Amino acid sequence: MTDEVIFSKEIEKIIENIDSSKLSGKIGIKTHFGEEGNETYLNPKLVKAIYEKLISLDFEVALIECNVLYQGSRTDKKSHIETAKKHGFDFAPIDILDGQDGKEEIHLEIEKGRVGKGLQKYDSLVVLSHFKGHVAAGFGGAFKNLGMGLGSRAGKLAMHSDVSPSISSEKCIKCGDCIENCDVEAIRMAQNGAVIDSKICIGCAMCIAICKEKAVNIPWGGSTSKELQEKIVDYSSAIINRMNQRLVYINVLKNITEDCDCVGKPMQPMMEDVGILLSEDPVAIESASLDLVDEVSDGHFKEINSVDNRLKINYAERLNLGTRNYQLKVIK
Ligand code: SF4
Ligand code: SF4
Repeated sequence: MTDEVIFSKEIEKIIENIDSSKLSGKIGIKTHFGEEGNETYLNPKLVKAIYEKLISLDFEVALIECNVLYQGSRTDKKSHIETAKKHGFDFAPIDILDGQDGKEEIHLEIEKGRVGKGLQKYDSLVVLSHFKGHVAAGFGGAFKNLGMGLGSRAGKLAMHSDVSPSISSEKCIKCGDCIENCDVEAIRMAQNGAVIDSKICIGCAMCIAICKEKAVNIPWGGSTSKELQEKIVDYSSAIINRMNQRLVYINVLKNITEDCDCVGKPMQPMMEDVGILLSEDPVAIESASLDLVDEVSDGHFKEINSVDNRLKINYAERLNLGTRNYQLKVIK
């Protein structure tokens, strides 16, 4: 693995520098289609340019994702693909790796590690990430896209919290859908609404996805930011091992917002566009991205929330996933 990070303002220059010998077999481009209502997600034209380059090299390629944890436009496979197409990602096959309802998963070799089952079909990954802020993880880049993004719904819940979901009696209309869909019978109906028995709950997160009233609370605060960031890197590390290092990383530092593309409303970019980065080293590309964004935002990016946004890369370097001492190669 090289510590080189290539920087350019133009996607064509980045594409010319992708080392295709690093990739083999069936390639998944892991990206993020943006929640409905969001307008600053990754530009589909840029994704299309990378897809077409890989197709021209005779690779079999698909855009890959997993369903989200919360109720939204990407909670199940059908609505997820509809949202993707509505957002302009209609030029390539889309593969939602954890299936229609987020239940299809495989277990990684780490504690509670659960990712979309469809990952087994892929030999190599292009981790194509929109760089932006994130309230709990400091920022969203390659690790967040890979580790959190490929987590099945249960995997995502496990990263966010060690605590079971709970049900709001004010919102619950006692429809019973969650009870019917809980495979381990952890939910019962009480006088004021459904109740989860945390001793039985296995954290599959199905009740969160099924409740149309949004009465099932996700325990967002169940992990500290440090725990969340380390779990994201643990998941990333397990996926990198599983893929035998056949990954390349592209971080797009454009339309940088304070919050992530899961926010279903328009947001203003907080700073001018920086450019696009390419590397085979996830720690190097994340370090270079943060350094560039800090420089261009005059230090403002690191102040957008109270989280230490270098935790992920420091931890990843300790796990030998790469180096923070990258070499930046600027291509005009
Ligand atoms: S699905 Fe939601 S509204 Fe229906 S019983 Fe369960 S928590 Fe209550
Ligand atoms: S998270 Fe899964 S196991 Fe736990 S209560 Fe909800 S549906 Fe049941």
